[in-house]
Amino acid sequence: MADSAIIELQGLCAGYGEVQVLWGVDMNVRRGEITALIGSNGAGKTTLMRVLSGLIPMQGGTYFADGRDVAGDTAAQLLAHGIVHVPEGRRLFGAMSIEDNLLMGAYSRKVSRAELGRNLDAVYGTFPKLRERRNQAAATLSGGEQQMCAIGRGLMSAPRLLMIDELSLGLSPLLVEQLVAALRSLNAEGMSILLVEQDVTTALDICHSAYVMDMGRIVRTGQGAELLADPIIRDAYLGVL
Ligand code: ATP
Repeated sequence: MADSAIIELQGLCAGYGEVQVLWGVDMNVRRGEITALIGSNGAGKTTLMRVLSGLIPMQGGTYFADGRDVAGDTAAQLLAHGIVHVPEGRRLFGAMSIEDNLLMGAYSRKVSRAELGRNLDAVYGTFPKLRERRNQAAATLSGGEQQMCAIGRGLMSAPRLLMIDELSLGLSPLLVEQLVAALRSLNAEGMSILLVEQDVTTALDICHSAYVMDMGRIVRTGQGAELLADPIIRDAYLGVL
Protein backbone atom coordinates (compact mmCIF):
# COMPACT_ATOMS: atom_id res chain seq x y z
CA MET A 1 0.00 0.00 0.00
CA ALA A 2 1.47 3.32 -1.07
CA ASP A 3 1.77 5.54 2.01
CA SER A 4 0.86 8.64 0.10
CA ALA A 5 -2.32 7.20 -1.47
CA ILE A 6 -5.60 8.54 -0.18
CA ILE A 7 -7.45 6.34 -2.69
CA GLU A 8 -6.08 3.13 -4.12
CA LEU A 9 -8.05 1.10 -6.67
CA GLN A 10 -7.10 -2.16 -8.26
CA GLY A 11 -9.05 -3.95 -10.97
CA LEU A 12 -12.20 -2.00 -10.18
CA CYS A 13 -15.25 -3.08 -12.19
CA ALA A 14 -18.67 -1.46 -12.04
CA GLY A 15 -21.68 -0.55 -14.13
CA TYR A 16 -25.44 -0.29 -14.14
CA GLY A 17 -27.21 -3.62 -13.80
CA GLU A 18 -26.20 -5.79 -16.73
CA VAL A 19 -24.25 -2.98 -18.39
CA GLN A 20 -20.61 -3.04 -17.36
CA VAL A 21 -18.93 0.37 -17.72
CA LEU A 22 -15.64 0.11 -15.77
CA TRP A 23 -13.30 -2.71 -16.69
CA GLY A 24 -10.47 -3.20 -14.22
CA VAL A 25 -9.55 0.36 -13.23
CA ASP A 26 -6.22 0.79 -11.38
CA MET A 27 -5.73 4.22 -9.83
CA ASN A 28 -3.86 5.94 -7.01
CA VAL A 29 -5.02 9.32 -5.82
CA ARG A 30 -2.18 10.78 -3.80
CA ARG A 31 -2.71 12.75 -0.63
CA GLY A 32 -2.18 16.50 -0.99
CA GLU A 33 -2.25 16.41 -4.77
CA ILE A 34 -4.64 17.42 -7.52
CA THR A 35 -5.36 14.38 -9.67
CA ALA A 36 -7.20 14.79 -12.97
CA LEU A 37 -9.32 12.20 -14.72
CA ILE A 38 -9.83 12.94 -18.40
CA GLY A 39 -11.34 11.07 -21.33
CA SER A 40 -13.95 11.34 -24.02
CA ASN A 41 -17.73 11.49 -23.45
CA GLY A 42 -19.09 8.24 -22.08
CA ALA A 43 -15.64 6.92 -21.08
CA GLY A 44 -16.88 6.20 -17.55
CA LYS A 45 -15.45 9.11 -15.52
CA THR A 46 -18.70 10.00 -13.77
CA THR A 47 -19.39 6.33 -13.13
CA LEU A 48 -16.01 6.04 -11.38
CA MET A 49 -16.81 9.03 -9.15
CA ARG A 50 -20.16 7.44 -8.31
CA VAL A 51 -18.41 4.25 -7.23
CA LEU A 52 -15.88 6.19 -5.16
CA SER A 53 -18.68 8.00 -3.33
CA GLY A 54 -20.73 4.83 -2.86
CA LEU A 55 -23.63 5.83 -5.10
CA ILE A 56 -23.31 2.68 -7.19
CA PRO A 57 -21.82 -0.63 -6.05
CA MET A 58 -18.55 -2.16 -7.18
CA GLN A 59 -18.81 -5.38 -9.16
CA GLY A 60 -15.18 -6.39 -8.67
CA GLY A 61 -11.72 -5.25 -7.67
CA THR A 62 -10.45 -3.48 -4.56
CA TYR A 63 -11.02 -0.01 -3.12
CA PHE A 64 -8.89 1.31 -0.26
CA ALA A 65 -9.23 4.78 1.27
CA ASP A 66 -6.43 5.87 3.61
CA GLY A 67 -5.26 2.27 3.71
CA ARG A 68 -8.66 0.93 4.82
CA ASP A 69 -10.75 -1.47 2.73
CA VAL A 70 -13.89 0.52 1.94
CA ALA A 71 -15.33 -1.67 -0.81
CA GLY A 72 -18.95 -2.18 0.16
CA ASP A 73 -19.12 0.91 2.40
CA THR A 74 -22.32 2.92 1.99
CA ALA A 75 -22.41 6.47 0.61
CA ALA A 76 -22.98 7.74 4.17
CA GLN A 77 -19.93 5.84 5.47
CA LEU A 78 -17.73 7.13 2.65
CA LEU A 79 -18.97 10.67 3.26
CA ALA A 80 -18.20 10.28 6.96
CA HIS A 81 -14.72 9.17 5.92
CA GLY A 82 -14.37 12.42 3.96
CA ILE A 83 -14.86 11.20 0.39
CA VAL A 84 -16.94 14.10 -0.92
CA HIS A 85 -18.47 14.28 -4.40
CA VAL A 86 -19.46 17.57 -6.06
CA PRO A 87 -21.68 16.20 -8.85
CA GLU A 88 -21.95 17.37 -12.42
CA GLY A 89 -24.90 19.73 -12.73
CA ARG A 90 -24.27 21.05 -9.19
CA ARG A 91 -27.61 19.80 -7.77
CA LEU A 92 -28.33 22.71 -5.46
CA PHE A 93 -31.63 23.27 -3.67
CA GLY A 94 -32.86 26.13 -5.87
CA ALA A 95 -35.44 27.60 -3.50
CA MET A 96 -33.04 27.64 -0.55
CA SER A 97 -30.53 30.38 0.16
CA ILE A 98 -26.83 29.98 -0.52
CA GLU A 99 -26.13 29.74 3.19
CA ASP A 100 -28.75 27.03 3.72
CA ASN A 101 -27.32 25.09 0.78
CA LEU A 102 -23.88 25.35 2.36
CA LEU A 103 -25.23 24.21 5.72
CA MET A 104 -26.76 21.16 4.02
CA GLY A 105 -23.19 20.06 3.34
CA ALA A 106 -22.63 19.71 7.06
CA TYR A 107 -25.98 18.18 8.01
CA SER A 108 -24.62 14.70 8.65
CA ARG A 109 -21.78 15.90 10.87
CA LYS A 110 -22.21 16.38 14.59
CA VAL A 111 -20.46 19.71 14.93
CA SER A 112 -20.94 22.64 17.25
CA ARG A 113 -22.47 25.92 16.11
CA ALA A 114 -19.07 27.55 16.57
CA GLU A 115 -17.39 25.03 14.29
CA LEU A 116 -20.13 25.43 11.67
CA GLY A 117 -19.51 29.17 11.80
CA ARG A 118 -15.77 28.65 11.29
CA ASN A 119 -16.44 26.28 8.37
CA LEU A 120 -18.80 28.83 6.78
CA ASP A 121 -16.19 31.56 7.24
CA ALA A 122 -13.60 29.38 5.53
CA VAL A 123 -15.93 28.77 2.55
CA TYR A 124 -16.74 32.49 2.35
CA GLY A 125 -13.01 33.18 2.51
CA THR A 126 -12.47 30.96 -0.52
CA PHE A 127 -15.51 32.33 -2.38
CA PRO A 128 -16.20 35.91 -1.18
CA LYS A 129 -19.05 36.26 -3.71
CA LEU A 130 -21.03 33.67 -1.77
CA ARG A 131 -20.81 35.78 1.41
CA GLU A 132 -22.17 38.83 -0.45
CA ARG A 133 -25.11 36.76 -1.66
CA ARG A 134 -25.57 34.47 1.31
CA ASN A 135 -29.34 35.10 1.57
CA GLN A 136 -30.07 34.84 -2.15
CA ALA A 137 -31.94 31.78 -3.50
CA ALA A 138 -29.52 29.38 -5.17
CA ALA A 139 -31.70 29.19 -8.32
CA THR A 140 -31.01 32.88 -9.01
CA LEU A 141 -27.22 32.47 -9.08
CA SER A 142 -25.13 32.50 -12.24
CA GLY A 143 -23.62 29.21 -13.39
CA GLY A 144 -20.24 30.13 -11.92
CA GLU A 145 -21.74 31.14 -8.57
CA GLN A 146 -23.70 27.88 -8.49
CA GLN A 147 -20.47 25.96 -9.02
CA MET A 148 -18.85 27.94 -6.17
CA CYS A 149 -21.84 27.09 -3.98
CA ALA A 150 -21.67 23.39 -4.91
CA ILE A 151 -17.95 23.27 -4.11
CA GLY A 152 -18.57 25.26 -0.91
CA ARG A 153 -21.23 22.74 0.13
CA GLY A 154 -18.68 19.98 -0.48
CA LEU A 155 -16.15 21.82 1.68
CA MET A 156 -18.71 22.02 4.52
CA SER A 157 -18.59 18.19 4.64
CA ALA A 158 -14.96 18.37 5.84
CA PRO A 159 -13.48 16.47 2.89
CA ARG A 160 -10.32 14.44 3.00
CA LEU A 161 -10.78 14.09 -0.76
CA LEU A 162 -12.82 16.60 -2.74
CA MET A 163 -14.05 15.09 -6.03
CA ILE A 164 -15.39 17.55 -8.57
CA ASP A 165 -17.21 16.37 -11.69
CA GLU A 166 -16.97 18.83 -14.60
CA LEU A 167 -15.65 21.96 -12.93
CA SER A 168 -15.88 24.23 -15.96
CA LEU A 169 -18.96 22.95 -17.81
CA GLY A 170 -20.87 25.90 -19.30
CA LEU A 171 -18.74 28.56 -17.60
CA SER A 172 -16.88 31.53 -19.08
CA PRO A 173 -13.06 31.43 -19.20
CA LEU A 174 -12.87 34.16 -16.55
CA LEU A 175 -15.01 32.18 -14.12
CA VAL A 176 -13.05 29.02 -14.83
CA GLU A 177 -9.87 30.96 -13.99
CA GLN A 178 -11.39 32.05 -10.66
CA LEU A 179 -12.43 28.50 -9.83
CA VAL A 180 -9.03 27.12 -10.78
CA ALA A 181 -7.37 29.73 -8.54
CA ALA A 182 -9.68 28.67 -5.69
CA LEU A 183 -8.78 25.00 -6.19
CA ARG A 184 -5.08 25.82 -6.29
CA SER A 185 -5.33 27.69 -3.00
CA LEU A 186 -7.36 24.89 -1.36
CA ASN A 187 -4.72 22.44 -2.55
CA ALA A 188 -1.92 24.68 -1.26
CA GLU A 189 -3.59 24.38 2.17
CA GLY A 190 -3.34 20.59 1.82
CA MET A 191 -6.66 19.55 0.26
CA SER A 192 -6.53 16.46 -1.96
CA ILE A 193 -8.63 16.91 -5.09
CA LEU A 194 -9.83 14.55 -7.82
CA LEU A 195 -11.03 16.49 -10.82
CA VAL A 196 -13.04 15.25 -13.79
CA GLU A 197 -12.79 17.90 -16.45
CA GLN A 198 -13.74 18.06 -20.13
CA ASP A 199 -11.39 21.02 -20.69
CA VAL A 200 -8.29 18.87 -20.97
CA THR A 201 -5.84 21.78 -21.14
CA THR A 202 -7.17 23.22 -17.88
CA ALA A 203 -7.18 19.81 -16.22
CA LEU A 204 -3.62 18.92 -17.23
CA ASP A 205 -2.41 22.40 -16.36
CA ILE A 206 -3.76 22.38 -12.81
CA CYS A 207 -3.10 18.76 -11.85
CA HIS A 208 -0.03 17.01 -10.45
CA SER A 209 -0.90 13.73 -12.10
CA ALA A 210 -3.59 12.58 -14.47
CA TYR A 211 -5.34 9.44 -15.66
CA VAL A 212 -6.77 9.07 -19.13
CA MET A 213 -9.84 6.87 -19.39
CA ASP A 214 -11.21 5.30 -22.55
CA MET A 215 -14.15 2.90 -22.75
CA GLY A 216 -14.03 2.17 -19.03
CA ARG A 217 -10.29 1.50 -18.85
CA ILE A 218 -7.31 3.61 -17.80
CA VAL A 219 -5.21 3.92 -20.95
CA ARG A 220 -2.55 6.42 -19.82
CA THR A 221 -1.25 7.97 -16.65
CA GLY A 222 1.46 10.50 -15.97
CA GLN A 223 2.23 13.99 -14.71
CA GLY A 224 -0.01 16.72 -16.09
CA ALA A 225 2.81 18.54 -17.92
CA GLU A 226 4.08 15.30 -19.40
CA LEU A 227 0.64 14.38 -20.82
CA LEU A 228 0.07 17.92 -22.06
CA ALA A 229 3.24 17.63 -24.14
CA ASP A 230 2.39 14.14 -25.44
CA PRO A 231 1.49 14.25 -29.17
CA ILE A 232 -0.92 11.30 -28.86
CA ILE A 233 -2.84 12.98 -26.05
CA ARG A 234 -2.79 16.32 -27.87
CA ASP A 235 -4.12 14.70 -31.02
CA ALA A 236 -6.83 12.70 -29.27
CA TYR A 237 -8.06 15.23 -26.70
CA LEU A 238 -6.89 18.67 -27.76
CA GLY A 239 -7.45 18.38 -31.50
CA VAL A 240 -3.92 19.63 -32.26
CA LEU A 241 -0.60 18.06 -33.15
P1 ATP B 1 -19.42 12.42 -19.87
O1 ATP B 1 -18.16 13.22 -19.96
O2 ATP B 1 -20.20 12.43 -21.14
O3 ATP B 1 -20.25 12.69 -18.64
P2 ATP B 1 -18.31 10.07 -18.61
O4 ATP B 1 -16.93 9.70 -18.95
O5 ATP B 1 -18.54 10.75 -17.30
O6 ATP B 1 -18.93 10.88 -19.78
P3 ATP B 1 -20.30 8.19 -17.72
O7 ATP B 1 -21.33 9.25 -17.47
O8 ATP B 1 -19.66 7.53 -16.57
O9 ATP B 1 -19.15 8.73 -18.69
O10 ATP B 1 -20.96 7.09 -18.66
C1 ATP B 1 -20.31 5.89 -19.03
C2 ATP B 1 -21.31 4.95 -19.66
O11 ATP B 1 -22.28 4.55 -18.70
C3 ATP B 1 -22.07 5.55 -20.84
O12 ATP B 1 -22.16 4.58 -21.85
C4 ATP B 1 -23.43 5.85 -20.25
O13 ATP B 1 -24.43 5.73 -21.22
C5 ATP B 1 -23.58 4.77 -19.20
N1 ATP B 1 -24.43 5.24 -18.08
C6 ATP B 1 -24.25 6.35 -17.35
N2 ATP B 1 -25.21 6.46 -16.40
C7 ATP B 1 -26.02 5.38 -16.56
C8 ATP B 1 -27.19 4.93 -15.89
N3 ATP B 1 -27.72 5.59 -14.84
N4 ATP B 1 -27.76 3.77 -16.34
C9 ATP B 1 -27.23 3.09 -17.37
N5 ATP B 1 -26.11 3.47 -18.03
C10 ATP B 1 -25.52 4.61 -17.65
